[in-house]
Amino acid sequence: MATLEIHDLHVSVEAENGAREILKGVDLTVKQGETHAIMGPNGSGKSTLAYSIAGHPKYTITSGTVTLDGENVLEMTVDERARAGMFLAMQYPVEVPGVSVSNFLRTSATAIRGEAPKLRTWVKEVKSAMEQLQMDPAFAERNVNEGFSGGEKKRHEILQLELLKPKIAILDETDSGLDVDALRQVSDGVNRVRETGEVGTLLITHYTRILRYIKPDFVHVFANGRIAESGGAELADKLEAEGYEAYTKGGVSA
Ligand code: ADP
Ligand code: MG
Ligand code: MG
Repeated sequence: MATLEIHDLHVSVEAENGAREILKGVDLTVKQGETHAIMGPNGSGKSTLAYSIAGHPKYTITSGTVTLDGENVLEMTVDERARAGMFLAMQYPVEVPGVSVSNFLRTSATAIRGEAPKLRTWVKEVKSAMEQLQMDPAFAERNVNEGFSGGEKKRHEILQLELLKPKIAILDETDSGLDVDALRQVSDGVNRVRETGEVGTLLITHYTRILRYIKPDFVHVFANGRIAESGGAELADKLEAEGYEAYTKGGVSA
């Protein structure tokens, strides 16, 4: 079973007036088969955590460790992280002009599996995954994220998740900006992947809404750059009732 271990992670970004520490000692372990929700107010550093694990160059790891099955993730290139089985669905997915969804998926699958998927089974796989997400087949020929609606971007992220079958998936605000139907389809996709038992999921969210559809095994409250409290699904109910105020008092939260 793959295990992602984050230990005492400190991360800074370069700001106008020098380096600013955003993550202030994050400890978290995610195992294959587990679903963890990270919930916290805007500006608490949730996306910074996602980007830092994924290897975004803007974020400087000043101390701490991130390992996948004992291997140092922080020394891996972004490609190596993907090949090792890590997947990041970004809060704001980027456009890839001139590259169709279909080509993008196949290229990604080839890079991750180390060989091109067999064309016939691959076409079937893509078609069935798209059907389950209620995506129009014509969507496969559009350029990645170009002119996609918010819902299409998120569905495309889940399509990647279903086809690339990572060991650890980090989903950053996959629920934001979705209407109820899209939220349900995206959640169903996450749950299908989860039911395989093959993926450990870090579900980052601001709202408790998605947790009605995806029941987390663990809930972590994120505030001021670290995990302030951890618990089971019941912690999400408490947050829904009480909000984040108890965790942000005395701290800065943009
Ligand atoms: P969240 O995802 O919880 O809303 P973020 O990780 O996006 O929080 O941001 C946490 C804090 O770090 C915010 O104050 C934000 O302005 C700052 N920050 C994040 N990324 C950068 C960056 N690339 N440059 C400067 N500041 C950043
Ligand atoms: Mg935010
Ligand atoms: Mg964010």
